[in-house]
Amino acid sequence: MHSFADESNRRLSALREQNLFRELRRVDSAQGPRIQIGGHPYLNFSSNDYLGLASHPMLKAAAIAAVEKFGAGAGASRLICGSLAPFHELEESLAAFKRTEAALTFATGYAAAGGTITALCGKDDILILDKLVHACIVDGAKLSGAKLRVFAHNDLEDLEDKLRWATSTARNSSMVTRHILVITESIFSMDGDCAPLMGMVALKEKYGAWLMVDEAHATGILGQHGRGLADALGVSQQIEIQMGTLGKALGASGGYICGSRALIDYLVNRARSFIFSTAPVPAAAAAATAGIKLVQSAAGESLRAQLRQRLAEFRSATVNRQPEMACPIIPVILGDEAKTLAAAAQLRAQNIFVPAIRYPTVARGAARLRITLTAAHSGADISELAAALAGLKT
Ligand SMILES: *Cc1c(COP(=O)(O)O)cnc(C)c1O
Repeated sequence: MHSFADESNRRLSALREQNLFRELRRVDSAQGPRIQIGGHPYLNFSSNDYLGLASHPMLKAAAIAAVEKFGAGAGASRLICGSLAPFHELEESLAAFKRTEAALTFATGYAAAGGTITALCGKDDILILDKLVHACIVDGAKLSGAKLRVFAHNDLEDLEDKLRWATSTARNSSMVTRHILVITESIFSMDGDCAPLMGMVALKEKYGAWLMVDEAHATGILGQHGRGLADALGVSQQIEIQMGTLGKALGASGGYICGSRALIDYLVNRARSFIFSTAPVPAAAAAATAGIKLVQSAAGESLRAQLRQRLAEFRSATVNRQPEMACPIIPVILGDEAKTLAAAAQLRAQNIFVPAIRYPTVARGAARLRITLTAAHSGADISELAAALAGLKT
């Protein structure tokens, strides 16, 4: 028997040997295009704060006002001690923004996915996931106990194969009503490409399945007023479960589900990550409400225009063939984990902060630099990044 300390250290050594060891880097400034790490300023191309709202004066003011009126903490779960007004304002804003009947917010997007999938599906149901969906969807799917199938990334033919199999399985199980739920992201978090949502909607209707779309990286960015990819493609009304986070372009923190009144009422009763967890701080809800208001305003429109401008500058300064240039996630896939760590270190030596993304965030051997541009970057920032990338020795 190893002691606990020996075993922990053995596991850490194994991670180091595989170049999969991770560590926290303390930042002594607000999130933004420039951050302070260890007393040094870095140009920051790592954040999902795509519109620069995390430090926006309107969001900060909303958070401060909520602290003054509603305090620092929420006291208990919303079903236990009463549900503070800022959460209701947030959910009304979200439902209006996404044009759904209702919305429910969770402490995080991670909790929203797990709580929703496990509430909707159990061992008699079938879940069909895109190969590259986020860990929170994979974890929720496993926890639900439903039968799981994975289709090749963005591959409609493979999705149809899985749907055909699922409907015949569902038909052959006489006793129970099986439900089939298809889940995808809209903009994929580590690749920056878009799901073929129109084709997916057509298929799920053809086979009588439900569809859940995680718009974590598209909300605030794509579609009219930043409503997301489903809105941009005109299919949002056919998607049963629209999920997202308040922690990326919306600049705050928390996760959400938008959909019918019945879906939301059911989740309040059955989503365990909602029921058995203390409500988030009211300041987070107030900041998110301000973020939602901002992305729909003229100011939000001009931030999106600025982001598109930065993306165009990046494209013309590099030979990067990004699949979806409307999207601010730019993967530079190097494959090898050690090589990717070395590239990130070279960039840091030039005061540029870009994360090395490795297993299990992406597959083994698919390591990459994940560059994110934001509306808060300047044209000069983009030139500096492009020059540093051109000089990378890999
Ligand atoms: C970040 C992310 C989440 C989780 O949201 P949090 O609010 O950060 O917990 C879910 N899905 C995708 C695709 C994400 O990128």
